[in-house]
Amino acid sequence: MTRLGIYVQVPFCQTKCTYCNFHTGVFSRNLHIPYVEAVCREIAGYPELLRGAGIMRVSEALVDTVYFGGGTPSLFDPIGLARVLDAIRAGFECTLEEVTLEADPETITSDNAAAWREAGFNRISMGVQSFQDNELKAAGRMHRRDDVFHATRTLREAGFQNISFDLIAGLPHQTHESWDESVGQLITLRPEHASVYLMEIDEGSRLGLEVLRGGTRYSASALPSDDAMAGFYERACGRLAAAGYVHYEISNWSLPGFESKHNLKYWRREPYVGFGAGAHSFNGTQRWANPHDPAAYVTAIGQEGFRVEQLEDISREQALEEELFLGLRQLEGIDLARIESQYSACLRPRVEQLCAQGLVEWSGTRLRLAPDRLTVSNEVFVNLLN
Ligand code: SF4
Repeated sequence: MTRLGIYVQVPFCQTKCTYCNFHTGVFSRNLHIPYVEAVCREIAGYPELLRGAGIMRVSEALVDTVYFGGGTPSLFDPIGLARVLDAIRAGFECTLEEVTLEADPETITSDNAAAWREAGFNRISMGVQSFQDNELKAAGRMHRRDDVFHATRTLREAGFQNISFDLIAGLPHQTHESWDESVGQLITLRPEHASVYLMEIDEGSRLGLEVLRGGTRYSASALPSDDAMAGFYERACGRLAAAGYVHYEISNWSLPGFESKHNLKYWRREPYVGFGAGAHSFNGTQRWANPHDPAAYVTAIGQEGFRVEQLEDISREQALEEELFLGLRQLEGIDLARIESQYSACLRPRVEQLCAQGLVEWSGTRLRLAPDRLTVSNEVFVNLLN
């Protein structure tokens, strides 16, 4: 039976962080309940929706992971989140092994944590980003360092035994010392899982736009250099490894056995279904997305006019590119022989060149990125695909 992941997108935030380039926004709380109802309707009507759009449903599927991301899904009333989980249990065959909720530290109260446990969440992914108040403030985050300590205690007391922290390398005002301190605090609190993301500068965020225009708002002039950011990442690799964390994906570490089961599906090209505004789905041969605007999504869902967007049949060439691009994000690498045989592709001459340049390592069966090239992985992918 195919294992299926379900992603629920909740693109609602309290404020917009300066560096955020996601399709999320600050919307009225009045929209929370209608949004929950729309997501439940979408889940219940999912088979007809796919049929109407000419999309193949993953047959004989067992849902084993659910991930509520955003946005800040922990802003929603836990009763609404529980309703969505109930709708999933009613609409799909489920053996839920990992049910994740993304939560910002300041939204984690003992009442919320108890209600999340009661609803069936067993993993919390916390947007920590930094343990330095000046960095959090400059980035427009709502929480402060003390909130992270309090939230972690609260989650542990509520019985959560699988917590993940996100950190961002490259925030304005970050220094080697402040970064080391943030990583050190993470290690002290010992979440089961940690993600380290490199700051992205593009026109999708207020900070990115300011940098591209050469301005100084949003502490743009206090951004660390690319070299410093790469150095932060390298230091995190060393410290986390020394503390017993396994580096299993470019941006992700876990204590043994706590890899994110849901996110592994993305890198392994396993099927997942997304519900909610802007959610993406993949059935093995097609990818599609829901409309991004939450208000438009709420109005359209369940009506004749509801359409999925960006529906794309994945060609053989695209599938091969995805195998390489996504698979090589995993530190265990990919089975080159399997990929060559599945796609009738001959990659070895190119791989040998890249090995000679020190960009990848090839053990004879597994191809992986060279450990010192993880921060320039895109360059390696481009080289491999050309
Ligand atoms: S909380 Fe996350 S999704 Fe929301 S604005 Fe900040 S970075 Fe973006």
